[in-house]
Amino acid sequence: MDTNIWIDAHRQKFCDLADQIWQFAEIRFQENQSAGLLADTLQAEGFTVERGIADIPTAFVASYGAGKPVIAILGEYDALPGLSQDRTCYKKPLIAGGNGHGCGHNLLGVGSLLATLAVQQAIQSGVVQGSVRYYGCPAEESGAGKAFMVQAGAFDGVDLALTWHPGSFNATVSINMLARLMMFFKFHGKAAHAAADPYNGRSALDAVELMNIGVNYLREHMLPDARIHYVITNGGDVPNVVPAEAESWYNIRAPKLHQVQELYARVVNVAKGAALMTGTELEIDFHSGVSNLLLNDTINQVLHAQMQRIGAPQFGTDDNQFAGELAKTFPKGSGEMFARLLGAEGGKLIAAFKDNPLAPQILPLFKSSVTMPGSTDVGDVSWVTPTGQIQATCQAFGTPAHSWQLVAQSGMSIGHKGMLFAGKVLAATALEFMTRSELLERARTEFKNQIQAMPYQSPIPDGVRPPIHRQASAREFATG
Ligand SMILES: [Zn+2]
Ligand SMILES: [Zn+2]
Repeated sequence: MDTNIWIDAHRQKFCDLADQIWQFAEIRFQENQSAGLLADTLQAEGFTVERGIADIPTAFVASYGAGKPVIAILGEYDALPGLSQDRTCYKKPLIAGGNGHGCGHNLLGVGSLLATLAVQQAIQSGVVQGSVRYYGCPAEESGAGKAFMVQAGAFDGVDLALTWHPGSFNATVSINMLARLMMFFKFHGKAAHAAADPYNGRSALDAVELMNIGVNYLREHMLPDARIHYVITNGGDVPNVVPAEAESWYNIRAPKLHQVQELYARVVNVAKGAALMTGTELEIDFHSGVSNLLLNDTINQVLHAQMQRIGAPQFGTDDNQFAGELAKTFPKGSGEMFARLLGAEGGKLIAAFKDNPLAPQILPLFKSSVTMPGSTDVGDVSWVTPTGQIQATCQAFGTPAHSWQLVAQSGMSIGHKGMLFAGKVLAATALEFMTRSELLERARTEFKNQIQAMPYQSPIPDGVRPPIHRQASAREFATG
């Protein structure tokens, strides 16, 4: 069965769904309409839908079929604050201060949905046997939705997982990403008048500052690829009162999960030292954590073969004109990081896009030895089941991440074409693994060998709940 034909026959329905979610533009944990639309669509097609996974109202799993293998396809649908944007090649918010799909998750959610429905068609027609599950994953942006879903056991029984992300060229994801822990360090001291009796006070702000100084000394003695960033979220109210309460917010990252956990333990010691020095009390409010990516060569080979068979999405004159105009607004040098991350292949890519930022490129299959300096909650799924992902061209090369330019393209034909391509690749890859048991076995053996060497431990400590009710400041979303 050629799932491409089925997908092409239904393309308008999926483009409309993607546009609806683009319009909803709901931020993390508030994706009620977006998750509802996707879950209802699957339910109407005969899927069994379980909502509220991991106590997150907008997380769901939709299942179809019976028995093994169980293939998981992951979708996302959260937007970003402050990025409302019309479908124009100049900056024009639809709603002043509103949200926008600056990471293209409207496309991500629907591209995965159409792949899932195409696999359902193959099961119904008897071409393949087994089950397909759509994972409705909320709050990818700084909420670590998948990590909480993994912790809740939502991926138990899954044999293999597939996903994708909108990007500016077509490639399998063959690069590690950083494991990341996020937490708030709160210090509790004692207030006093800063002039009259400061000796009676114990400054929580002093503790925050001393902790930051300690961490800055730590930097020389940590892995070069590790990252620590912080902001002070509470530095007291007025200067003439010794601050009784102060708080800083930390992101800690490292190429591997155990490395970030070791680094975190050292940062905690620095915080304890700051509390001891200042006579204050330390409280750690853990926000969330994600793991690094375990790459699966077997899945990537199949994904790549399917990308080549299907062929890169082709863009029309209107798309190219729009992209050309939009590219004039990109910051100088945007896209150059790919030369660093992808070596010679990155250099070739940049050259190919020189005259046409939507050139139909499929990156050759290769594995980057460097770690991409960002984080994703797909990482946690990759530790509990063999996971593969691609990125598909949904935006002009050089489009900045989390930008108004990305929002515009996610709501129009440029994004749609990449989404349909990604859906076809995921569906065809799922069918390969459902029909060729030796291939599935190879992917699973590869995965088992990886986790045997380093068993998974959730980056989220027991008892930490999804940060659903936490006030999300705009800057919190820039932590990807
Ligand atoms: Zn993002
Ligand atoms: Zn994203």
